[in-house]
Amino acid sequence: MSTFASKKSFVPKKIYVEESVASTPLSKRIIRHAPHSQVDVIADAQVLLEKAASSLNKGSWQNNLLLAKQRGPFLRRCPGTPKYLCCLYYNLDVAAGCDLGCTYCILQGYLNNPLITIHCNTEEMYHELDSTLRKNSRIFYRIGTGELSDSLTFEHLTELGPELVTFFADKRNAIIELKSKNVHIDALLGLDHRGRTVVSWSLNTIEMQKSEEPLATTIDDRLYAARAVQNAGYKIGFHFDPMIDHPGWHEGYRDIVDKIFRFIKPENIVWISLGALRYPAPFEHILRENHPDSRIFLGELLPGIDKKLRYFKPIRIDLFGSMVKWIRSYSKEVFVYLCMESADVWRKAFGWAPRSSAHLKQLLDDRVKP
Ligand code: SF4
Repeated sequence: MSTFASKKSFVPKKIYVEESVASTPLSKRIIRHAPHSQVDVIADAQVLLEKAASSLNKGSWQNNLLLAKQRGPFLRRCPGTPKYLCCLYYNLDVAAGCDLGCTYCILQGYLNNPLITIHCNTEEMYHELDSTLRKNSRIFYRIGTGELSDSLTFEHLTELGPELVTFFADKRNAIIELKSKNVHIDALLGLDHRGRTVVSWSLNTIEMQKSEEPLATTIDDRLYAARAVQNAGYKIGFHFDPMIDHPGWHEGYRDIVDKIFRFIKPENIVWISLGALRYPAPFEHILRENHPDSRIFLGELLPGIDKKLRYFKPIRIDLFGSMVKWIRSYSKEVFVYLCMESADVWRKAFGWAPRSSAHLKQLLDDRVKP
């Protein structure tokens, strides 16, 4: 029985399985864990996706799950932006889509496919990873599965976490980061991870969690799960992204920083990232249409040099500078970094800046290299 229960685990009404992946271990496992879901085997996912994309009622597809073949590479460099400092991260695209429905989630604009999709040809994924890591043995890879989805939200169906932890346990030039707002961690606890997995949680103020992430687990539950994972010897990461400018944010974020250090020992935190609310301008109408009552629209956002809408620089500097001050009151060592910000904002908020994206990558790699 699960010790850590998410609010409501996703149960697909219908599972579409592409014929080419129907007999993979991952497809079989997912179907076994969803005994009440109707299963349809389809010849080609593309045909279904076209039908779903042109459907008038896209919402009706969201309760369904597509098990498909990943036709492109699984591993991709995070697109970042050349105009800001980037940590040079890699994304492993096993799943695309998420059931947690955060109001600010940019997947609402990025993904044109309304079905949550899990790529089940994972044998090819492990082969691709093996060959990339071996071929580029001098490069150190920080890899995450939390870019196009939440890393743990489908664990009750996929049980992919333990597989990834075990796969990365003997890799010398890579770590895997499982980044989540969920608490499906039971299966991770007894594993021989050898320090090659970082388990991370995205955090926000209690108020923002309630209004903007209502389907995700509470902040306290995430921290309880982080403590359990810490006790199992894992390194922990935290991501305050997106930080949201709202009345009372000083007290709200300060309170979460206090909680972190009550739950987690500073020496077990590999990094804390900070990023302020931002999204591509063309996505604004989608976010507003999907979440008309969201409080993310209360603040004023302006186009930055990457054309994404962002808060005024002084607001971002205040958000980041305040956070780093509160974190430093507990620990001088925990590495705090900014996601996609200019060197100028770094300097004004932190008093220093990495020399380049490569330098930032080096600093993060050093936190987790064997
Ligand atoms: S948890 Fe992440 S991927 Fe899922 S809806 Fe929220 S922001 Fe999007």
